[in-house]
Amino acid sequence: MTLFASVELAPRDPILGLNEAFNADTRATKVNLGVGVYFTDEGKIPLLRAVKAAEQARLEAAAPRGYLPIEGIAAYDKAVQELLFGKDSALLADGRVVTAQALGGTGALKIGADFIKRLVPDATVAISDPSWENHRALFESAGFPVVNYRYYDAETHGVNFAGMLASLAALPAKSVVVLHACCHNPTGVDLTTEQWQQVVAVCKEKDLIPFLDMAYQGFADGIEEDGAAVRLFADSGLSFFVSSSFSKSFSLYGERVGAISIVTQNKDESARVLSQVKRVIRTNYSNPPTHGGTVVATVLNSPELRAMWEEELGEMRDRIKLMRTQLVDKLAALGAGDFGFVKAQRGMFSYSGLSAAQVDVLREQHGIYAVSTGRICVAALNSRNIDAVASAVAAVLK
Ligand code: PMP
Repeated sequence: MTLFASVELAPRDPILGLNEAFNADTRATKVNLGVGVYFTDEGKIPLLRAVKAAEQARLEAAAPRGYLPIEGIAAYDKAVQELLFGKDSALLADGRVVTAQALGGTGALKIGADFIKRLVPDATVAISDPSWENHRALFESAGFPVVNYRYYDAETHGVNFAGMLASLAALPAKSVVVLHACCHNPTGVDLTTEQWQQVVAVCKEKDLIPFLDMAYQGFADGIEEDGAAVRLFADSGLSFFVSSSFSKSFSLYGERVGAISIVTQNKDESARVLSQVKRVIRTNYSNPPTHGGTVVATVLNSPELRAMWEEELGEMRDRIKLMRTQLVDKLAALGAGDFGFVKAQRGMFSYSGLSAAQVDVLREQHGIYAVSTGRICVAALNSRNIDAVASAVAAVLK
């Protein structure tokens, strides 16, 4: 027997598998709506002007590349906190938020998960049905049983909110509840402020541990607006977790820039929590990389670059909304039915309502790639491919 003789081939990641099939497709008219990436109207991943300027400044400074502190760049961590909780947050003034730079939103979730495993080893983790496909795998690999709470209602293309509340209320105390802070992936369907208030109330009443995943701040209504759910939790007095990511909002996917923030009850708790989070980081990868964190901190802390970034983020947000409106209008004009719900969805994704069989036909006959759940990336639509996509969807539905 060789050492690896018994190693089984792991199943392919469904979305990366889709990308491979897309790349192998030789049709010139192919369109990839499977990915979770924002593209410009020219079909390119943007390099934001604010990022470019910060990178240039960094190159010119020719700074040495020493190790960062375990929790990352202090100016970065502070900027993350202000984005999430607001500059004037009482929590920040009271030293109740611990933040550590992390390797993207994924890295932040994993650090949070590993820390919780030490704190509440027998916890159950609840994720939305459906959720970002990595949530389950990530928390399972951190050693937790993962269950679903009800979320999406295919009939109404909305949230089964009564079902969601009932699921949450039935969880054992000290369960971890993973919540999409805005721009729910994969459905695009978010809670209203009133619904968030009720979720906060049930977390409080049932002694649950909220873990907010903020991967798309600024993609729904704006930076401040999209922080509303985090702010509600901040006002609740609960202790909770927030993972955040700049992959999308800074178009820095490959630089792995994210953060884990933990809200505690007081400064003393914060110091002890930070010391444990640092231990988790130290035993995983020691300390974070310099480039992405430096760039984001430079942009967020320079009034000029920050204004530039906000403008660019606004352009991305507006373009996605334009694509939603145009897709809905074109489908209606083609007699494909009322897709008005797509306009109400937020963020990069849309649960289109297409079945797995329809998604297969879309791919095989029209070269349009979507996830088998019917999830499409609206941010991959553009003025050149949207007519073809609308016609193909209309044809599939006939
Ligand atoms: N959470 C959600 C809901 C996401 O959609 C994503 C990215 N697709 C992540 C976390 C991970 O973000 P990152 O790429 O920064 O690791």
